[in-house]
Amino acid sequence: DSGAHVPALVIGTGYGGSVAALRLAQAGVDVHMIEMGMAWDTPGSDGKIFANTTKPDYRSYWLRTRTKAPLSNFLGFPIDKDVPRYTGILDAEEMGGIIVYQGRGVGGGSLVNGGMAVTPKRQNFAAILPSVDAEEMYSTYYPRANAGLGVGLVDPDWFETVDCYQFARVGRKHAQRSGFPFVFVPDVYDWDYMKQEVAGTVPKSAVDGEILYGNNAGKKSLQKTYIAAARATGRVAISPLHRVTTVSPSAGGGYTVGMEQLDTTGAVVATKTVTADRVFFAAGSVGTSKLLVRLKATGALADLNDEIGKGWGDNGNVMCGRANHMWDPTGKVQASIPCGGIDNWDAGGAFAEVAPLPTGIETYASFYLSITKNPNRAEFTWNAAAGKVDLNWQTAWKQPSIDMAKTIFDKINAKEGTIYRTDLFGTNKIWGDHLTYHPLGGAVLNRATDNYGRLRGYTGLYVIDGALIPGNTSVNPFVTITALAERNIEKIIATDL
Ligand code: FAD
Repeated sequence: DSGAHVPALVIGTGYGGSVAALRLAQAGVDVHMIEMGMAWDTPGSDGKIFANTTKPDYRSYWLRTRTKAPLSNFLGFPIDKDVPRYTGILDAEEMGGIIVYQGRGVGGGSLVNGGMAVTPKRQNFAAILPSVDAEEMYSTYYPRANAGLGVGLVDPDWFETVDCYQFARVGRKHAQRSGFPFVFVPDVYDWDYMKQEVAGTVPKSAVDGEILYGNNAGKKSLQKTYIAAARATGRVAISPLHRVTTVSPSAGGGYTVGMEQLDTTGAVVATKTVTADRVFFAAGSVGTSKLLVRLKATGALADLNDEIGKGWGDNGNVMCGRANHMWDPTGKVQASIPCGGIDNWDAGGAFAEVAPLPTGIETYASFYLSITKNPNRAEFTWNAAAGKVDLNWQTAWKQPSIDMAKTIFDKINAKEGTIYRTDLFGTNKIWGDHLTYHPLGGAVLNRATDNYGRLRGYTGLYVIDGALIPGNTSVNPFVTITALAERNIEKIIATDL
């Protein structure tokens, strides 16, 4: 309610926010989480909470009137279609030279992501965040994050036999024939549930292609892990469809937090103001960066330092497909949950997930999302004339990612006598270089904040999400975001409360 006072307010309900809420509540602190997206706890008229990837509807996109699928074309035909404007689950946020995909709702990115739960190689982590004690991360916080998230691995024997992972076995065969290591990738999907899906004893989710617009079963999103545990403490309240717009110091100490309540068309139906002793920015890399850059530039938090908005990267994401020969079908039915990758990080700067293309028909395509060591970093700045925050990323900055991904796929194509698909991202376009799933940075650890996420310039303000990570994690990011949040909140609880 407007006028309320809370000890701890958390902006956003993704990985960083959920870790903060759980650990603060367990330490006896009452927490209020503010989430701009919906609760995603009520089925629609079809009895399902989430829409299928192949049939996007009003639930699929955040305030768009037309879908904006990451793969825009198929066999020469554009696949996007009109949908009613609604506070749907996936935001395709157009930031100048890049479309940044993000989850919207209680659970943040965990609602829409592939659940791939990868701990980076220790030397890569140490290079990315040198101010963090890697020994502590690998002995304490990565294990804690993996346990809290419910990370598991596909049963390797089952993997060898099921139709729905034929695409991954073909991906492995081609990788290995070209001399690249294929590695199994852990995931938070409930692998026993997937076995039952294949056996036909439970409703299908991953095996029915559910993923990008939510999974109705099987995937352990944060709603089922950290957020469930946080709610069970009895100390955590969550307000969905509330968007934080301002944070500023209160005359009486602490902070005044302004927010807008939205309806499902995105219209503002109320504005509210509360006070909080401590505020945790966990709105995601883009959400946190946009808030902080605006609040610094407009004077609400004028003492934030000049690192605010800097160090943003796309985790080197780039996508591509390969056209296989007719004797290498990848399967009509493909599990939407990837479980393997090609590791050429040390030699070529690329780690490529062997991704599904769950279209329901045989495509003879292999599809990949590569994470690359792209060195380019962008900056968020305040555009006073337009009254918004801009990001100066250029599409051409993906070229290093393409070059690194080619170290894998040019070699595989040469060995297999195959070619790239040119029909997935437009006409005659090989590379999906217009997007990222993995925004990182904008309020980097030990620069914009101290070494534990305390914002420099303001006591009681913290960043605890992907904004802390300087643009790259060498693998899929959410385990690292979670583990870093576990590390930081433990220190904050021990020393600041
Ligand atoms: P988020 O999870 O983005 O949470 C931020 C939350 O804050 C959101 O719910 C947002 O709605 C809310 N918010 C933003 N602004 C405000 C505001 N002003 N007021 C109130 N609330 C606000 N990563 C992996 O590791 N493995 C994968 O397999 C994987 N697959 C992905 C697939 C897709 C399609 C996408 C989009 C992402 C994927 N990711 C994956 C990335 C991963 O989901 C993100 O890195 C992660 O969710 C970021 O966590 P976070 O805590 O920083 O923020």
